[in-house]
Amino acid sequence: MSTTASDAAKSAPRPALPRRRKPRELPPGGLACRDCGHLVRQPDPDRTTALLSYGVATPGGVRETRHETYLTTCDRCELRRDMAHELIQRHASLRQALGSIAYGVGLVAAALAALDAVGVPEGAAARLAATERDLRQLVNALARVGGAAYWSSQLAPTLWADPDKAHPTRWAHLSDELAQRLRDDYARLLRAHTEQPALMPPPSGADRAGCLMCGVGALLTRPSLAADVWGPLRAVQPGTLGAARVVRQRPVYGHICPPCTRAAEMEGAVGMSAVERALFAHLGRVPVGAVELRGLRAWAALPPATPPSAEPWAHESGLAAELKRARLPLARLNGPRRRAVTVERTPRPGGGR
Ligand SMILES: [Zn+2]
Ligand SMILES: [Zn+2]
Repeated sequence: MSTTASDAAKSAPRPALPRRRKPRELPPGGLACRDCGHLVRQPDPDRTTALLSYGVATPGGVRETRHETYLTTCDRCELRRDMAHELIQRHASLRQALGSIAYGVGLVAAALAALDAVGVPEGAAARLAATERDLRQLVNALARVGGAAYWSSQLAPTLWADPDKAHPTRWAHLSDELAQRLRDDYARLLRAHTEQPALMPPPSGADRAGCLMCGVGALLTRPSLAADVWGPLRAVQPGTLGAARVVRQRPVYGHICPPCTRAAEMEGAVGMSAVERALFAHLGRVPVGAVELRGLRAWAALPPATPPSAEPWAHESGLAAELKRARLPLARLNGPRRRAVTVERTPRPGGGR
C-alpha cells in the first residue's frame, strides 16, 4: 500500500465514540474484556487474567479492600494487542528507546486502544502506525490516554466500577471527560500528520524564552511536537553557569534545545562542563577537559533582559572565534599526552556583561 500516514490522517475517520450504556450483570460464564469492557459470553480460557484491587471508591473516600476480578480479552482487542507486539518487533530502535519489549508493547497497545476507542478502523490505525516515526508520534500522542481508557483501569488498583458487570457495547464505560480527552488527543495527532514545520519558541511558562545554555530562541519543528522537542521545564542556577556577578541566588526556569540536552545528559547535569561540551559540539570540535575556556557563560547566566538569538551561541561568538583561531591540536588533545590550552573570551568594548 502506498498511502502515507499523512494521507491516512487526511482521510482518517472523525471520532465517533459509542454512546454510554449502563453496564449489566455478568451472565454465568461470561467475563468482561479487560480493555474495551465489552461482555464476552464464552471467553477463551487462555485469555483469562486475574486483576487484584486493593481499594474501593466510596462516597467517603477510598476504602481498603482486596478483590480479585477475572477478565478476558475480546477478539478485537486481542487482535489489536497482537498488532502492538508485531509493530514493536518490527521497529528495533523504537523498542530500544522504550526500554523493553514488554513495556514497548504496552505503550503501543495503549495508543492503538485509544484509536480503537475513538472508532478508527484497523486499516486506518495501521496506516497511522506505518513508519517508525508515525509509531513514535502515535505513542507520544495517545499511549497515556489509551491506558486510562482501559476497563481494567477502573478496577485496579482501586475499584471505581462494579467488577461483576460488563457493557453491552465496546468502550461504553468511558466517562464524558475521558471521551473528550480521547477526541482531543486524536485530533492533535491528525494535525501533527498534516502540519508543516515552523520555527517554534520554547513553551510558555519559562523565565527565559530561549535555550538556557546556547540562547537559541526557536527550533524548526512541527508545532504539535514543540513541547516534546524543547523538553521539560528546568531550573538552573546562573551562578553555576558562568554569571559574572551573582546578585541573587534565584533559579532561572526554562528549556534546553536538543543538542544542549545531549551535552547535559552526557555530563549528567546542566553545569559548566555541559556548557563547554555543547559549545564544542556546536563548533564541530571534540576536546573537552584539556581546554580551559575562560569567561564562557551559558545564556541563562546573562542579564534577564538579554534577548534570545536566531543562532545557537551567538552570545559567545567572540569566544567561538577565539577557539577557531587557537588552532587546537585536536589529535594531540585526544591522544594520551594532553596539553592544556587556555582560550579567553575577548572583552567586549565598554566592559561587557
Ligand atoms: Zn475488547
Ligand atoms: Zn541550546
